[in-house]
Amino acid sequence: MRCKKCKQTACFQIRRHNAAFCEEHFVEHLQNQVVRAIKKFKMFPRSEKILLAVSGGKDSLALWDMLVDIGYSVDGLYIDLGIPDYSDVSGQKTRNFAEARGLVLHEVSLSRAYGVDIGHIARKNKKPPCSVCGVLKRYVMNTVAERHGYFAVATGHNLDDEAAVLMGNVLNWQTEYLQRQSPLLEAKPGMARKVKPLFRLAERETAAYCVLRGIDYIMHECPMSEDATSFTYKEVLNRLESESPGSKDHFLLGFLRTAPQLFPQDPDDGPDLQACTRCGQLTTTGECGFCRQMARAGLDSLALFHSDTPQERDQHN
Ligand SMILES: [Zn+2]
Ligand SMILES: [Zn+2]
Repeated sequence: MRCKKCKQTACFQIRRHNAAFCEEHFVEHLQNQVVRAIKKFKMFPRSEKILLAVSGGKDSLALWDMLVDIGYSVDGLYIDLGIPDYSDVSGQKTRNFAEARGLVLHEVSLSRAYGVDIGHIARKNKKPPCSVCGVLKRYVMNTVAERHGYFAVATGHNLDDEAAVLMGNVLNWQTEYLQRQSPLLEAKPGMARKVKPLFRLAERETAAYCVLRGIDYIMHECPMSEDATSFTYKEVLNRLESESPGSKDHFLLGFLRTAPQLFPQDPDDGPDLQACTRCGQLTTTGECGFCRQMARAGLDSLALFHSDTPQERDQHN
């Protein structure tokens, strides 16, 4: 097989694009896919600084590397959930990545702020860890983005993630979720602009990218994650993809093309918001969901950001 660009021997085949590439042009192809995603959805311009939520895994670190290499201005945000045997490693890989490249990394740590992990908060709330984790992550992303004036918050969701979410939403006819499933969510009062520039890339492509670029990432999935359903959806989609390359692309990209007609957005449509009586973040109720979640676990929500790293403290001053 020959590289589509230079006709040298190819090392990577992308069956759904009916193309193969040498190492150099594989990297270039993936970066081009990311640029295409950013431009198509008008996610953010090069002149604006964005915040990327990084977990130490392949997707978020590959995305950080790509965006910086392409010339975007991107700082990282790492949230330490205090998960035994997992958070230490993922935090260290993220720090190593940022330090080696001289990049700014914000850190917010549950264990440093409270001496507890996400499991403690989940048990006290009688909810699955992934659900309390989602509330916490969204809150931290919005707060850090607002405090530091970032134009948008990016996450490393890839094609496999987004196709699996879409499959779940369709199988259960979650029309409200379908309406919100987009690689771009515009900023709203109290909520930062959210973007997913990796939605055109498959999982195995970001993994290969990390190997080629010498990025050391944590291979284990989060041990708290019990979401077996999403794993099953990914397996089903992988079977479809191997039988008929391009299935995932057709499924997700076709949906994204049709969604604006299926779900027309009304910019004035939204609940009335007021400041959370505890933290000031905009919410529909007296106290925001995050403050209530923390209170149920006997924790002061306002103390979370006192654990900022020296790097972040310097920026506040
Ligand atoms: Zn080539
Ligand atoms: Zn609050």
